[in-house]
Parts: sequence; structure tokens; C-alpha cells
Amino acid sequence: MKDLIIKNGLVYDPLNNIDGEKKEIHIKNGLIVDKVNGDAKVINASGMVVMPGGVDIHSHIAGTKVNAGRAFRPDDKPEDSNEKRSKLTRSGTGWAVPSTWVTGYRYARLGYTTVVEPAMPLLKARHTHEEFLDTPIIDKAAFPLFGNNWFVMEYVKQKDYEKLAAYIAWILKTVKGYAVKIVNPGGVENWTWGKNVNSLDDHVFHFDVTPREIVESLTKVNEILQLPHTIHVHANNLGHPGNKEHTIETFKAVEKIKSKDGREESFHLTHCQFNSYGGTNWGDFESGAADVAEYLNTHNHVTIDAGQVVFGKAATTTMTADGPWEFALHHIGGTSPWGAKPGMKWINGQVEGESGSGIVPYFFNPKVAVNAIQWAVGLELMLLIKNPWQVFMTTDHPNGGPFTSYPQIFRWLMDKKSRDDVLLNKCSKKASEKSQLKDIDRELSLNELCVMTRAGTAKSLGMTDRGHLGIGAIGDIAIYKLDPKKMDGHLIEKAFTLAAYTLKDGQIVVKDGEITATPIGTTICAEGKVKDSIMEAMLEDVKAHWRNHYSINFANYAVHDAYAPKVKIMNGV
Ligand SMILES: [Zn+2]
Repeated sequence: MKDLIIKNGLVYDPLNNIDGEKKEIHIKNGLIVDKVNGDAKVINASGMVVMPGGVDIHSHIAGTKVNAGRAFRPDDKPEDSNEKRSKLTRSGTGWAVPSTWVTGYRYARLGYTTVVEPAMPLLKARHTHEEFLDTPIIDKAAFPLFGNNWFVMEYVKQKDYEKLAAYIAWILKTVKGYAVKIVNPGGVENWTWGKNVNSLDDHVFHFDVTPREIVESLTKVNEILQLPHTIHVHANNLGHPGNKEHTIETFKAVEKIKSKDGREESFHLTHCQFNSYGGTNWGDFESGAADVAEYLNTHNHVTIDAGQVVFGKAATTTMTADGPWEFALHHIGGTSPWGAKPGMKWINGQVEGESGSGIVPYFFNPKVAVNAIQWAVGLELMLLIKNPWQVFMTTDHPNGGPFTSYPQIFRWLMDKKSRDDVLLNKCSKKASEKSQLKDIDRELSLNELCVMTRAGTAKSLGMTDRGHLGIGAIGDIAIYKLDPKKMDGHLIEKAFTLAAYTLKDGQIVVKDGEITATPIGTTICAEGKVKDSIMEAMLEDVKAHWRNHYSINFANYAVHDAYAPKVKIMNGV
């Protein structure tokens, strides 16, 4: 591969304190270097901004539930979502949940180069990795689900943190995972009995543990293992009016647990918008974002991502490992582009003793008060939390809307006029009455946006080789046609919709919004170490349980290396 020099661009590299400086970037053998000597290809980025490639911390792009979501929505293939094949690219389709190949292309066109699939059932990890292989260009990582797992709850009950650490280390290696994902801790296990949990101190049947104990124990063990990312939590009571209290209680539950050296935070709450509601029922539903933001503004052990809602022309496909929530959503129904209350269809899944899932199509309608308030809550969180290193931009794709809506959200964050236009002219007036959005004047700078979409997410994930443009970083770079001195809402959205250039490992993969190369991405994994003797003792427990409770042979459980031919292990320290 030819050496590369990017010249004349305005560089945004917050991890290296570079905020819109004209600076050359040199790339050799896929890595950023101080200087290349001799013959090099030059990209003239005059009139453009240069940033690290985007790093999406939470986006459901691969695995059994994503694929079930594709099959579930034959209507999710509007004409303009069809992509023809070209000499380089395969065909594909899907608006809310695109097919695998176009997922890779669409992320690359946005200038994103790393994406995390945040809910991988252990037993079905192979499917996730198979789809990763069919998702070109971008690097991928997957978070295995631990919050309702039989072994996790057994060890939590016994307070055996050493064996719990061994189990997590073993699973991460066995399923090629990256971090500890917790979804509605205890609630999905109770769902197998048709119930849920609704407080941190509710009881999980059979195991007699509580959501609080599950969250605390996994946070402790995550830090014992020195994993690169914190635990990544989808809290209890997601989607319910008044859930902000529970959210803040969950933050408090881990306040005193010390994080590993070199990382301030110990807890990540994902798609926080869905957990930042005030009121007591759907009638007096209101934003609770200000209280959640206030907590983050005074505590540094928590990071969140937004889970922003967008108003699509069509229904999105919600999908989560939170089975009981999807059951509730299926009953809530809502409006849709096809008419009122279509009698929402619903899929429920159960993965043996490991986890569950659910899928429901859902239409976010700006004229529906609750939906309009939800839209405002996500933006409030991203604008009221002062430190951009604590709050990241996501839509919980496809739950709040597809990732292809990101440029529209950047516009709302960076331009008050654009968001006020939606708030005051398109939304139910409840959105301005029941949130503080209309009074927020903050407009994010390019530097802050860069933190919330790449530098901050890479840092939170502990992926030290990306999210910045310092020497030694991988050559994952996005270049956008945008003049920081002449920005308005329209220009911001336009520039971020189609990158002028996207570079993956130093190779130009997008030029003027067109795909120019389709390398396979790397699967990023993390490993934690425990003593051999503890690992052996834990495996004895696992094997004893296995014979009677698992439908597959122990030897067939692991995801073999052939499923992930290009792997990179991130070490925690
Ligand atoms: Zn999610």
C-alpha cells in the first residue's frame, strides 16, 4: 500500500488537544507516523475538516435478533433503500435494518470505521461473527450478554467473585467478545416466568439475587479483570414513565467501586434517553433528562450514550435482549405510517439459560406527545451534560432510528435553529412544555462533536489505537467537506452524510461518498486474566451444569478461529 499524506485540512483530534489546526497527517503501512519519506500519495483536504474515523459504541448490526428483525419487516425495504451492486460492492436493502453488506458501506460513507454490536447471546455468538464477516470495511466488536446468565447469578449468589471473573474471562475468549453487557439485570430471567423486576432490590426467582447485586458484582469483577471498557448497562425499567429515579439509583449503586488505573469511569449506561423519564404514567409523562444530566455533571464514574430518537418516514424495528420490555411495547402499540394502532406484531426469543430478546416495529411520530418528548430527552442529555467525554451520540440503532440519521442529529446538536424548527413546528407542543429543550442555547462545536462520536467513544471503549490521530494510531480517518467558519444546519448535515474521504487502515475506502475499496474489517476482542486453578474450578462447575441444561455439546460452544480470521486483542491495561 502506498504511503499517504493528508495536506491542508483542518484537523480535529481532541485526544491530542488539536482543535481545528491546519496540520499534515502522514500514514505508512496503515498507521499514522511522524513523517513518510519519498513517494507518497497526497490527499488535498483544503476546505475540509479531518477527524479520526467514527467509533460507534452501541449499534445493533449483527446476530440472530438483527437478522430476525430483517425477516420480520418485508415492508422495511422502501425503493430508496435498495442499493445496486457495482464492480466493487454487493447489492443490499433495508432502511431501519440494512442487510450486512450495505451496513458496512453506509457506515463507511458516514466516515465511521468502528462499530460495536452491543448484545451478543453467548450461545448464538457464531451468527454474530458470521454477519461480521459479511459486513465489510468497518472494524467490529461484540458485547456478550451477562446480566441474566445462569452461571453469573449462581456466582453472584455465592459472592464468589473469583469464579465470576473466571467465567467472564472464559466467555470473552470463547465467544470472541469485548465487554460485559448487562440488559435489564434479573428482569429477563424473571421473564421466563412471565414476570419482570422493577426495582434494584426486587428478587430474581430461583437464584434469590437482586438486580443491585448483579450490577455491583459485575462492576467489581470488570475492574478486577481490568477490562478495557466498563460494564455496559441497559438498566431495568427501560421505557417506563418515571424511570429516571431508578436510573440515578443504579448510578449510585456503583459509586464506591474503584475503577481500574487509568480510567475514571466504572459504569456505562446505554441509550440513556429511554431511561430518563419523569412523570408517573403516559398521561403526565415528562422529561427527566435534567436530573440525569445533573448527576453526571457532579459525578465522573458514569458515562452514557444517548439513544436519540428520530422521526422517520417509516417505522423502525426495535430490538433488544430486554424481552419483557418488548412485550410491554407490543401492547403499547402506537401510531404508524399505515394508520393508527396496527396491532403491533412481536417476536419473543429465549436463549436457554443465558438471555432473551424481543422485536417490535415502532413508529416515532412527532405529533404524539410521548414520542416528541422522547426526541427532546435525547437532545437534552447531549446538551445538558457538560463534559462531552461522558456522553456519546447513538440512536441505539435501529431502536431510536437507523444510524444513517446521524448527520441529521449532528445538525440538531450543532445548530439551535434547526432543532427549534423541529421542536416548535413539527412536534407536539408537549415536547416544549415537558422538557427544557427550547431554553437550551448550547450548540456543540466540531471539537465536541468529534469527542461524542469518536474520540470519547474510543476512549471509553479502551480502544487506544483509534479515535485519535497521534503517532501509532491506525489510519482510520474521516474527511468532510465543511468550512467551520461557514456552517449552518444544512451544510453540517450535508457534509456528514457523505464523507469526502474515509480511510480504513490507511486505505481510501470512500471518495466523494463512493465506495472505492471493501477490505474486511478486524474483529476486536478483549481478554482478562485469572489464575489457572480458578479457571479450572469454574470450568468444572460449568461442565457439570452443561450435561443437563444445554442443548449443544460443550465442545461445540466455542466460536472457532475460522469465524474471525482477522482479530485484534485489546488489553485492559
Ligand atoms: Zn441497544
